[in-house]
Amino acid sequence: MLKRCGRRLLLALAGALLACLLVLTADPPPPPVPAERGRRALRSLAGPSGAATAPGLEAAAAVAPGAPVREVHSLSEYFSLLTRSRRDAGPPPGGASRPADGRPRPPAEPLAARDVFIAVKTTKKFHRARLDLLLETWISRHEEMTFIFTDGEDEALARRTGHVVNTNCSAAHSRQALSCKMAVEYDRFIESGRKWFCHVDDDNYVNVRALLRLLGSYPHTQDIYLGKPSLDRPIQATERVSENTVRPVHFWFATGGAGFCISRGLALKMSPWASGGHFMSTAERIRLPDDCTIGYIVEALLGVPLVRCGLFHSHLENLQQVPASELHEQVTLSYGMFENKRNAVHIKGPFSVEADPSRFRSVHCHLYPDTPWCPRTAIF
Ligand code: UDP
Ligand code: MN
Repeated sequence: MLKRCGRRLLLALAGALLACLLVLTADPPPPPVPAERGRRALRSLAGPSGAATAPGLEAAAAVAPGAPVREVHSLSEYFSLLTRSRRDAGPPPGGASRPADGRPRPPAEPLAARDVFIAVKTTKKFHRARLDLLLETWISRHEEMTFIFTDGEDEALARRTGHVVNTNCSAAHSRQALSCKMAVEYDRFIESGRKWFCHVDDDNYVNVRALLRLLGSYPHTQDIYLGKPSLDRPIQATERVSENTVRPVHFWFATGGAGFCISRGLALKMSPWASGGHFMSTAERIRLPDDCTIGYIVEALLGVPLVRCGLFHSHLENLQQVPASELHEQVTLSYGMFENKRNAVHIKGPFSVEADPSRFRSVHCHLYPDTPWCPRTAIF
């Protein structure tokens, strides 16, 4: 008896010691936003007279702490501060010390095409301008796993691929319209029974081989949220907890423009806040865009930390810095503008920059040289 108690005591002591060590070595919580800054943002929103312009605006007061404080004169200007184009872009310092750097790890389970659900978010006006390029390149090789979420009927698109979902969401670039599409993506993924949910924008190239390698290194039954933040610290938001109560909340989120993935195990746990109409009401609670809402559900409500992965890329980072020799390892790429300059990966592909400004065709020929339209003589 005594012996057993002694062993228990020893075990308890060892446990306490381990807990202390964990507390001592854990990351300190991020510094809170100075109250003055939050108030100033709200005051400037309220306009010079100090009268709020719309009910519930305080819930929209989310800033990246440390970001320069700007005077905001209108609701639309305020919202634009929250959109991705204005978010800070540099790689997060100390990113490598977070749970994983996304470099391939030993496989946990081999994955087949039917195990992964890739949702591509688009809008009718981008079907020709953006989506056709994806259909010609990476989607053409991976139709089975790719589902296109849009907002308008398009016969030409329906003829090209069977996996088009008309969400009936508004075609606006508003917070609500984007959350509406994310809600449909989530519900369709749950219905599909697949192991992994990945979301990308219509300006992303997905290197599916690298994606399968990455996802295959995690068990899909565990809680995994993989992606890359666009901010260098957790976003600070105000969470509406009841009619008259709000409270500050901070969490990391993976930027939607670089793509992110969620394991089925985690997606099922998100259901109370994400399924049916719940995603929209959860997004309203923090009044932030769709990708932030995902981070809020996963990190803030479920307590599951984002696994940072440097292999996802949005056009909010300098894509020229992706080494050409490592292109085949990257999971997603993008193109667009960065600091008012054209932003795309650097690759000496078979196509000129004029013929292939996104560089996606050149990347595709690099990854799949047997593609019929890739020049045979190409030297990489
Ligand atoms: N998008 C949309 N509705 C719109 C405008 C854009 O669904 O009215 C989609 C677009 O197809 C893309 C994503 O939202 O998948 C991001 O749009 P964009 O790349 O233009 O903006 P960003 O946020 O990257 O600056
Ligand atoms: Mn974009």
